Order: sequence, then C-alpha cells, then structure tokens
Amino acid sequence: MKKTTRLATNDNQFSLPIKIKDLTKTYDDVFALNRVSLDVEAGEFLTLLGPSGSGKTTLLMAIAGFSRPTAGSICFGEKEMVLTPPHRREVGMVFQNYALFPHMSVFENVAFPLKLRKVNSVEISERVYEALKTVQLSDFSERRIDQLSGGQKQRVALARAFVFRPRILLMDEPLSALDKKLRDQMQIELKQLHRKLGVTTVYVTHDQREALTMSDRIAVINDGKISQLGTPKQIYNHPANRFVADFIGESSVLPLVCQNSNMLYFMDQLVAKLKAAETQKLWSLVIRPEMLSIVSENEINSPDCLIFCGIVLEYIYQGETALVIVKLENGSMLSVRVSTSLLQQKHQVKISETISLNLDRQFVTLIPQELEK
Ligand code: ADP
Ligand code: MG
Repeated sequence: MKKTTRLATNDNQFSLPIKIKDLTKTYDDVFALNRVSLDVEAGEFLTLLGPSGSGKTTLLMAIAGFSRPTAGSICFGEKEMVLTPPHRREVGMVFQNYALFPHMSVFENVAFPLKLRKVNSVEISERVYEALKTVQLSDFSERRIDQLSGGQKQRVALARAFVFRPRILLMDEPLSALDKKLRDQMQIELKQLHRKLGVTTVYVTHDQREALTMSDRIAVINDGKISQLGTPKQIYNHPANRFVADFIGESSVLPLVCQNSNMLYFMDQLVAKLKAAETQKLWSLVIRPEMLSIVSENEINSPDCLIFCGIVLEYIYQGETALVIVKLENGSMLSVRVSTSLLQQKHQVKISETISLNLDRQFVTLIPQELEK
C-alpha cells in the first residue's frame, strides 16, 4: 500500500516522510536506542508502542531535535536533519505534561509559535481562531490555562502544535493524564484531526488498545529496538515474537506438540508451510482467547475441530464477556474469552470441571521458540 503525499489544509505545504536509519542513543552504557531503522510515510499516523523505558521518548526527542543521537541518520524527505536545531525542523510537538505557558491566555498560548515565526497580527488572529475552532475551544480564547480542565488543556496543547502547519506532528503520550472516558473521546477526535490535517504523525503510547484504535501502523518498541512494525491487524493477528504476543492483547503461548490426531495433521500442515530450513527449529503456537470456543461432547469428533481438553481453573466475569482459564492435561494454561450471553444460553462453566475447547485454525500464529524471550 503506497500512499501519495497529501496536501496539508489550505496550504501548499506537503507533509513529509521520515526516514530513520541505524539510530543509536546511549547514556553512559545504556542503549536507549539501539540501531533503530524506521520509515514513516508522508501523511501516515504511526504509533510507537512499548513499555516504560523502552526508548519511545528518546526516539521522539531525536526526531524533534531536542536530543542529539549518538549515531545514525534522520531524514525529512531527502534532507538530513540530525544537525538541524528543533526550531528549524518545522515539527509540531505535544508533550505528555502539556507544557503550556500558565501565565498566558489560551489565545496567547496558541499564538506563540506564530509570533516566533513573525506572522503578522491579522493572520495570527485568523489562524488561532481557526485552530481553536478545530479543537472546539472557540469560546475559551481569553481563559487562563489554570481555568481549564485536563481535556481542555490537552486541546490547547494540540492547537499550539498544529497552528503553524507543521509538516510533522509528534505526540508523547498526550492522553495519559486524562480519565478513561475522556481519553476514549479524545482518541476519536485526534484521529479525525489527523484525517483533516493530513500531517505525518508519530504518536507515542504504552497503551496497546490506544495504539490499535488510532494507528495506520504500529512500531512495537522494546529495549531500544523495534520488535515489530505493521498495521494494527498484522501486529495483533501475526505477532512476530513472544514479546509482541504478550504485550498486545491477551495470548497463551504453547509449545508445538501434538494433542491428538487432528492436531497432528494440522501441525504437519503448519510446519509444511514453513521454509524447509526452518523446520529444524522449535515452534510455539500463539493463541488469542477469542480464537477458542467451548464445545460440547457431541461436537468433539468433527474432523474440523482442533480440540484441547482441560480443567476450568478460573471463571472471570467481565460484563459482555467472561475470561475462562483452563489448565490442559500437559500442565499448560489456556485463556478463553466467551460471550456471556452465549454462555447463558449454551454452556455452563463450572470451576474444577472438564471442558473441551475448539481452536479456530485460520487464526493460529507460529513463533520460533528462540524468539520467545
Ligand atoms: P520511554 O519513553 O519508552 O519510557 P525513554 O526513551 O524515556 O523511555 O528512556 C529509554 C531509556 O533511556 C531508559 O532506560 C531511560 O532510563 C534512559 N534515559 C532516558 N533519558 C535519559 C537521560 N537523560 N539520562 C540517562 N538515561 C536516560
Ligand atoms: Mg516516555
């Protein structure tokens, strides 16, 4: 899927692709970034997703120009940027703690980047009001920052980041200080804003659901390296290694061994699909809880079924779904997500009782056991 460069709103500026090559940043003997290479397409919404300390902020700060990498290259379009100071990069930035000017009004905060760029006051006024309209704060221009709620402050920070029509927008966990309802709402608003502006966006979060909700593509980052890059669907359905399988969504990882003859045939098919050289490796199955369903006695012998049998250890009611934790005969654990309405109609789940589970084979992913760590 190749996107063409999109026009930014009412302007002739193009959004830019970002090409990062072998970027390394060390602090003493810590590799905050370890030879990271990443291409962000023009106009794309790309999310850096990873646990705390994985290097997300370091990468964002290097793109913005606030931190000088130890080695490697960052190009905007074809132009090398590593030595360009932040104010010459034309990058809009939203910080986790908003970083607004508390003594200025909403208007003055949003006008600030335009004043720096010596835009005339008539145009400043027009552009600030347009930006405030976009973030639904038209009526708040004269308010002081300390008279705003968290969500309103975040909108001011956003307006300030895009008012000067940057060609790249960077956001570092911008919603993490908001409560869940507001965060969900702001995720949708940010997505709509991105669609409207068409600006290349790099977004940082440690929240996998937020990343899945918002992104064109996700770069999963772990320990200063990119662990996997792909669309939300690719990352969720085909995790490349144990880290991604665990970090995004829920999963059970089982060594590839045969449970019964159907399983044996299925495993043979899976292994046959692997490249010949890779059949020597040991593999594990990644199984998402929603890929399993509870089956009753009379369904077990169907030739299409891949059946696991085990004992119910735990039943956790979570509203629309329930999570059932099952211990298999070989000691492995499997988590199964079931719709509670279906459960009420069809199957009784009782702790300590034996249960049979069918695995939907089209969704099974294999990962090499050497990549489990
Ligand atoms: P994230 O944003 O993913 O939580 P960071 O990019 O802030 O992670 O940090 C990555 C690693 O670099 C961490 O191990 C962190 O302790 C280290 N680090 C970040 N900034 C500094 C600094 N100024 N001095 C020393 N170590 C740092
Ligand atoms: Mg951070």
